[in-house]
Amino acid sequence: MVDQTARRGLLQRLEEDAVICAEGYLFELERRGYLQAGAFVPEVVLEYPEAVAALHREFLRAGSDVIEALTYYGHREKLRLIGKEDLLEPLQRNALVLAHSIASEAEGEPPLVAGNICNTNIWHPDEKKSDDLVRTMFEEQVGWAADARVDFIIAETFSFLGEAQIALETVKAFDLPVVATLTLHRDEYLRDDVQIEEAVKQLEQAGADVVGLNCARGPNTMMPLLKRVREAVSCHVAALPVPYRTSKDHPTMQSLRDPDCGCIPDDRPFPTALDPFTCNRYEIADFAKEAYDLNVRYLGVCCGGAPHHVRAIAEALGRFPAASRYSPDMSKHYAFGKEASLKKYNQDNIKNL
Ligand SMILES: [Zn+2]
Repeated sequence: MVDQTARRGLLQRLEEDAVICAEGYLFELERRGYLQAGAFVPEVVLEYPEAVAALHREFLRAGSDVIEALTYYGHREKLRLIGKEDLLEPLQRNALVLAHSIASEAEGEPPLVAGNICNTNIWHPDEKKSDDLVRTMFEEQVGWAADARVDFIIAETFSFLGEAQIALETVKAFDLPVVATLTLHRDEYLRDDVQIEEAVKQLEQAGADVVGLNCARGPNTMMPLLKRVREAVSCHVAALPVPYRTSKDHPTMQSLRDPDCGCIPDDRPFPTALDPFTCNRYEIADFAKEAYDLNVRYLGVCCGGAPHHVRAIAEALGRFPAASRYSPDMSKHYAFGKEASLKKYNQDNIKNL
């Protein structure tokens, strides 16, 4: 009999199949009215933990294999920015407790619980003293995550290879598996002028278990770079685009423009008016299939992602998560359906809909 409580680790799951990781908590909780766009600090962990728990549950039901503790942008620099450094440790520790708590509710094989570290916005290659500053920030965060016995650490959205390397060194010192993902904006080079192939190779050599790309770019503009990443390394690769219709002229969510709408502050849809650019579930499924066929096995969505996107990835991989019980079945739709008992006069009225 299969032991339903057995838990495979990150690497075993990647070897055997794929790992889905739902992200995008900040954007989704902002839309729901629990978090402020701008600083994007997840105070919601302390103020409305039930809102975070609900979203963890929704992503889990939709097929995420990972519950990522909501510590993204909950680091020392962000809390300094909003004058609440005293909340740093409670926020971090509570986010980790919450993630474990929801993971323990899962039916079947429990999900993995991941800690998170990310870009600090205070590292620069020309400021040598920033090495120590960010290292200290990473050490305290990874320390709390290690105390909470996470399965692995997600080190993400680094645009500087140098900062990603410090993050990686820190996690390796704690002997935890690490998924290290870089964010490329319009420029296809890292901000420290390193080519993407070279950057992921260096991260692989420094011990990253998974390397890849997340955030900023949508499926269309992440895929060409993803192919280059896949070619460059032999370790597992991650791809977590933002679910927005980015294009050659507007390759990132930050660069998208909406000339038909005159009511957007600063004329910039990012970050609160990106709705009309949102990818549908089928586009996300296509991206997941194409990526998986390239042997990219760590898949998800970043900012803008919602449970229906996660479910689309799961189904693209041939899975049937709990939320698939409600996947569309248009055969019973009163007008578009084909079932014999449906009224013909409604079907004939399609051209009028
Ligand atoms: Zn993101």
